[in-house]
Amino acid sequence: MEESEGSEDKWKNRLDSERYKVLRLAHTERPFSGELLYNKRKGVYVCAGCGSALFRSESKYESGCGWPSFMAPVSEDAVREREDKSHGMIRKEILCAKCGGHLGHVFDDGPIPTRLRYCINSLSLNFREKD
Ligand code: FE
Repeated sequence: MEESEGSEDKWKNRLDSERYKVLRLAHTERPFSGELLYNKRKGVYVCAGCGSALFRSESKYESGCGWPSFMAPVSEDAVREREDKSHGMIRKEILCAKCGGHLGHVFDDGPIPTRLRYCINSLSLNFREKD
């Protein structure tokens, strides 16, 4: 079983339907549609499901792929990986470690030093600006 805070009904009430489809049903938002795609402000990206800190603005970069892209999470235990064999591909799915919400996938074509691209749905994130 997925670790999660509360039942699926609770998630449905807490999240708007677009966010629910991404976070709880692992849908993918349309590329280049995300509000946070071109956000360059300093701050922290948190899980839209539970508020847990996931990525820092310092690790965000322009990958050109159409989704917010990060080189690394705030800490190794902030996210969790799971093998995803859907859509005829083998990918590494990235989930919020705290609530189990679907965030996106990680690919190994990122920039130095991590060489990782955390390709994350904007809908699964909220941004907290640094003051
Ligand atoms: Fe979460």
